[in-house]
Amino acid sequence: MTAACIAEHCTRLLRDWETSANWQICRPCVDQMRAWLRAVPNLLIVLADGSMHRERSGESGGRGGTKEAPLPGRPTTMNFIGPASTTDVRDLHGDQIGQRPIIDFLGSWTRLVLEEHPRRHQRDFKQPDNWSEAGLSAWLSTALPWASTMAWIGEMAQELRDLTIAIRGIARVEVRTRAVSRPCPNSDCGLLALTRTDWDQYVRCSACGNAYTDAELNADAVARSAA
Ligand SMILES: [Zn+2]
Ligand SMILES: [Zn+2]
Repeated sequence: MTAACIAEHCTRLLRDWETSANWQICRPCVDQMRAWLRAVPNLLIVLADGSMHRERSGESGGRGGTKEAPLPGRPTTMNFIGPASTTDVRDLHGDQIGQRPIIDFLGSWTRLVLEEHPRRHQRDFKQPDNWSEAGLSAWLSTALPWASTMAWIGEMAQELRDLTIAIRGIARVEVRTRAVSRPCPNSDCGLLALTRTDWDQYVRCSACGNAYTDAELNADAVARSAA
């Protein structure tokens, strides 16, 4: 019997290697979580930047499309999500997450990993370097392979997803994913399944799960045209 990924928005059946590694969620979901965690510092910069910009420019910001008054201490509510998003906003049951400081979200998952990780008492077990958004999101992403074996990974995936949606909505960042019309450089894959998402520094293959820098993609294009 093949089990499916337990992440709420995913229906992918687990591959054999994922099952034998005891993973509860699939590799694309793990990669997605890693990408979201990696994006946290950038999103925070965008948030800070955006609120400063709004404070400076007020309502008369040239583009004229801003409906909200420039509120001091702009509330971080999910209200900004619905109208701003054109499609596919269904059940945003993470309503409170928008108001929960990001550091709390990251901190509570970090604490759980620190409590449950089987190697936590070993001397070479690496603790988070610093208890900041950037520090914790980087540390959590290194814990993902182990965390993927835990029953709570689905919940973590869901919270992370809600959090990312909430931040994007607050920052009013339109994040787009576009297809990249080039075959995947992975010689076992080679499919036209590459996509690029804003703020993600990697181009990702939705078929094999590999991620590439621009330099790697260029090198691959050169190699292909030389072949
Ligand atoms: Zn999945
Ligand atoms: Zn691929």
